Amino acid sequence: MSDLVIIGGGPGAWSCAVTAINRGLSCTVVTTGKKFSGLTKAHLITNYPGIPEISGEELMDRMEKQARDMGTEVIEGNARQIMPSGDQYMTLVGNDILTSPAVVLALGAARPKLLPGEEELLGHGVSWCGTCDGMFYRKKPVAVLSAWAGGAEDAEFLANVCSSVDYYTLQPHEKPSDERIRFVDGKPTALRQENGQIVLTTDQGEAAYSGVFIFRPSVAPGTLLPGLQLEGNAIYVDRRMATNLPRVYACGDCTGQPLQIAKAVGEGNVAAISAAQDIAELRKGKQA
Ligand SMILES: Cc1cc2nc3c(=O)[nH]c(=O)nc-3n(C[C@H](O)[C@H](O)[C@H](O)COP(=O)(O)OP(=O)(O)OC[C@H]3O[C@@H](n4cnc5c(N)ncnc54)[C@H](O)[C@@H]3O)c2cc1C
Repeated sequence: MSDLVIIGGGPGAWSCAVTAINRGLSCTVVTTGKKFSGLTKAHLITNYPGIPEISGEELMDRMEKQARDMGTEVIEGNARQIMPSGDQYMTLVGNDILTSPAVVLALGAARPKLLPGEEELLGHGVSWCGTCDGMFYRKKPVAVLSAWAGGAEDAEFLANVCSSVDYYTLQPHEKPSDERIRFVDGKPTALRQENGQIVLTTDQGEAAYSGVFIFRPSVAPGTLLPGLQLEGNAIYVDRRMATNLPRVYACGDCTGQPLQIAKAVGEGNVAAISAAQDIAELRKGKQA
């Protein structure tokens, strides 16, 4: 259990971790990995103070190393859901649940584009979590639609449980090597329910399954943490980087324009300081 769980893995998250540790908090960063950060895609950065020229990847590696060297715990995976539980938050990452009194969202700007029909069928034949829902499809045929290599672990789990697993790619990536998983050509375009089955439409035709599992390296903020206030596509925050939920903060591109490294780093710093203050208040209240 850490004082602070930070969901991200870009400059906002690493900055937040560094300051949190300086403020005496233990912290865990949950990240799908640097290749999904906007920063890694930046060829040359010339507007970061103190470093006149550096590639995005090099700057990212330096930030991550600093945070790790200071004692940040790093968990690679997709944070799928955050649930409040008393005065704590439970963050679901793969099969693990991380419990913490405070959470920082440093998710970046990328928003998953959902397939037509996906949102409506979620929980009714469509799932985003193999380990959570796989058992509902015991000995039944399912499809996996994955946008990243992280989907392999869930697909392999489903292969243990379901009668068959067909694997479609939403984005090109390395596929799982498990021979029980059948790779199918065709780009998924839509989902619908028909006669108790989920019908998947691709650019090659249609196929029906008992269940369809969809895996992506990010989750829309409102789905990740129900009740979170949004302003358009961005997460609402005040000047302390506090969201509308107690001890939940956000920083970086996910709070909106401008999408800049220095802004993400500054907001990460503020979020960590606010979290340290509010956790101290919470603990003082418990002692009183
Ligand atoms: C091509 C390009 C060039 C750029 N050039 C510049 C520049 O020159 N100067 C400048 O200031 N800015 C530049 N930027 C913008 C800069 O990269 C971003 O502003 C910055 O990376 C934002 O940092 P962040 O921490 O908010 O998000 P990101 O760096 O995007 O990191 C977010 C991370 O969180 C992860 N994540 C999201 N959801 C989850 C989840 N549920 N579980 C686990 N992990 C999750 C993502 O996969 C990603 O790794 C550029 C961006 C691009 C794309």
